[in-house]
Amino acid sequence: MIVAKFGGSSLAEASQFKKVKDIVKSDNRRKFIIPSAPGKRNSKDHKVTDLLYMCYQLASHGLNFDEVFKIIHNRFLEITKDLNLTLDIEAELKEIKNRIKDGASRDYTASRGEYLSGLILANYLDYEFMDAKDLIIFDHRNIFDTESTEVKVRDILKDLPHGIIPGFYGANEVGEIITFSRGGSDITGSIIANGVKATLYENWTDVSGFLVADPHIVKDPKPMDMVTYKELRELSYMGAPVLHEEAIFPVRKYGIPINIKNTNSPEDKGTMIVDDLTPVKSKGITGISGKKDFTVINVEKTLMTLEKDFFRKLISVFETNDISIEHMPSSIDSVSVVVPTSEVSMKLKKVIEEIRIFCNPDNIEALPNMALIAVVGRGMIRTKGISAKIFTALAKADINTRMIIQGSSELNIIAGVENYDFEKAIEAIYEEFEEKSKGGL
Ligand code: ASP
Repeated sequence: MIVAKFGGSSLAEASQFKKVKDIVKSDNRRKFIIPSAPGKRNSKDHKVTDLLYMCYQLASHGLNFDEVFKIIHNRFLEITKDLNLTLDIEAELKEIKNRIKDGASRDYTASRGEYLSGLILANYLDYEFMDAKDLIIFDHRNIFDTESTEVKVRDILKDLPHGIIPGFYGANEVGEIITFSRGGSDITGSIIANGVKATLYENWTDVSGFLVADPHIVKDPKPMDMVTYKELRELSYMGAPVLHEEAIFPVRKYGIPINIKNTNSPEDKGTMIVDDLTPVKSKGITGISGKKDFTVINVEKTLMTLEKDFFRKLISVFETNDISIEHMPSSIDSVSVVVPTSEVSMKLKKVIEEIRIFCNPDNIEALPNMALIAVVGRGMIRTKGISAKIFTALAKADINTRMIIQGSSELNIIAGVENYDFEKAIEAIYEEFEEKSKGGL
C-alpha cells in the first residue's frame, strides 16, 4: 500500500489536479492521499496558506480582510469550476470567512487551505474525505501526540478502501485545530504512512528528487538516486530543503521508504530515501551541502583537559546567552566553538568577557565569516581516500581550509572555509567527485 502526499505546486490549479488524478489512478496501491493547500502557479503568484495567514493577521487587528479572502475564494472557485465538480465550495468558503470574522484562531485559519484542497480532491477522485482533525491528535499542550494518533489512524483507516486526508493540521483534546510548522503536510503524510504501515510513502513535488549539490552553485548537478534517513538529516541540517526536516521521523519507525517524485514528470525515478541499514552501493559521496555565516571562537589554554570542569564552564557561557553550539572541535590545548553568527553577533563581546572570567584562558579570539561545507556519504566508512579527494580539490582551487570536522557517525566530513570561498569550494568538491566517478557519484 502506498501513501502519497502532493505538495502545493502539484495542486496549484485545475490542470495540476488532473495530473494528480492520473498519477493516483495509475496505481491502485495508492490508497491514502494527503493534499497540501494550492501553492504558487508562477513566481509572482501567492500560496493560499500565505493568504490565509494574511487574513488572520488583518482580522486579528480588526481590519477588513475581504480583498485578500476574495483572492482565496476565486482560486478555489476556479479550480472547482474547471474540474466540473458538484461540490458546493462557496458554502464552505462562506463558513470559513464567517469564522475568521468571529475571531477564529491562527491555526484554524491557516489550515483551511488543506481542508478545502482535500474536499476538492475527494470530490474529484470520488474518494472518502477524512478530516485530519479526527486522525492527527495533539495533547493539551498542543504538542503532537504520537501514540494517540497511531491508534486513531490505524483504527479509523483500517477498513477504508481509499481516503483523502488533508495535510498540515490536526486537533487537540478539546477539538481546536492545531497546525504543524510550515511545510507540515510532509509530516502528515509520514504519520499516515506509519499508521497504516504503508510499503512506500510517496512525496510528490515539482522536482525529480534531491540533487547532489545546490543548483544555484553547481551547474546541472546530478540527482541522488538513493539517500538514507541519516544522510538526509546531515544534508538538511546544513540547509538542503525540499522535505520538511521532521517528516522522516514517523516513517523511520518501520523503515518505510520515502520516494520524492515530480508531479510534472512522473516517469522520473526521483530520490528514494531509505532505511539506514540498506546496503550501500555507492563508494563515493551522496551529497554536498553547506551554510555560510558561522563564527568560530577559539579558546586556548595549556593543560585545559586536566581541569575537569573546563568544558562545562565554557559551554554554560553559551547556554546562559541562549546561543546554540554547532560544533566543538578540540586539540590538546585549545578548543574551537562554532556558532551561527546570527545568534552570537550582538553578544560577542559579552560572551568573550564571560569566557575570560569563567575559564581564564591563555588566549581567545573570534573569527567571523566562516562557511561550513558538509560532504555526506554512508559509503565513506568503507572507502579510502575520500578526505584526500576533498582537500586536494580545495587546495587545487586555491582555497584555504580553515577547519576540518569529521562527524562522529562517520557519515560526513565538514570543511570550514571563508565565506567568500563557499561557492567555489562546493563547485571544486563536486567537480572532483564527478570527474573521477564518471557517471555516478
Ligand atoms: N500549506 C502549508 C504551508 O504552506 C503546509 C504545506 O504545504 O505543507 O506551509
